[in-house]
Amino acid sequence: MIRFEQVSKSYSGGVQALQKISFHIQPGEMAFLTGHSGAGKSTLLKLISIMERPSAGHVFINGHDLSKVNRKQIPFVRRDIGMIFQNHRLLRDNTIFDNVALPLVIEGYGLKAIRKRVETALDKVGLLDKARYYPNMLSGGEQQRVGIARAVVNTPPILLADEPTGNLDPKLSLEIMRLFEDFNSVGTSVLIATHDLGLIARMKYRTLTLTRGRMVQDGLEASGANGVES
Ligand code: ADP
Ligand code: ADP
Repeated sequence: MIRFEQVSKSYSGGVQALQKISFHIQPGEMAFLTGHSGAGKSTLLKLISIMERPSAGHVFINGHDLSKVNRKQIPFVRRDIGMIFQNHRLLRDNTIFDNVALPLVIEGYGLKAIRKRVETALDKVGLLDKARYYPNMLSGGEQQRVGIARAVVNTPPILLADEPTGNLDPKLSLEIMRLFEDFNSVGTSVLIATHDLGLIARMKYRTLTLTRGRMVQDGLEASGANGVES
């Protein structure tokens, strides 16, 4: 579903953000990506969503070699990916309904289909009764759930999350993780970048650990000695 083959990324200015990264996330798998700030987590996610291109190596998404995907085809590949951000990036002047509807509006869905899908997505995250609210009327945890509803509204097979619990307390963080598990349990592949080692320890999923752009660990635990110290 997500495959990296010997992927390196250097930015202009000489930063080697990723070095010879290889891994494979199977369809329906859920995994964490961890490492210190600057280790390359965001860069890795950006290569999957084609916001950045590799300097070397190949990234495959759902069988597509992304190096063969041209600018015009990017939106089609991105349809397979739901992105969730730390600050959830909601539009302040739009209702919760309209925020979640946005990806469908952009794709040109009809009003009836939009209503049905938005209501389904809001129901899944437990916010159907707040569809007419504005983001600033919701708590931080609720706003993050709106961000998740927006990411899943067109039922993508892949969910990517970049520090999705960065601003949340442990209890709310766990709630958000349970939501990811719900989507994973119906077959969605989920990759979650986080430096919250406590959360990772409680969840017991495969964990990819980056240290200065290198994959130092890939297994059921975050690395201690070579990877991230708590
Ligand atoms: P993380 O998400 O783990 O904090 P990043 O992928 O954001 O790590 O960053 C990895 C390294 O690449 C860092 O040294 C960062 O400063 C650098 N970097 C990230 N984005 C850019 C960019 N657009 N231009 C130059 N350097 C960048
Ligand atoms: P976030 O924590 O929300 O991912 P960041 O502060 O890491 O935001 O990055 C914000 C933007 O700045 C990103 O698009 C990233 O690629 C870019 N960026 C990060 N580090 C650098 C850097 N050293 N030089 C230039 N751009 C960078």
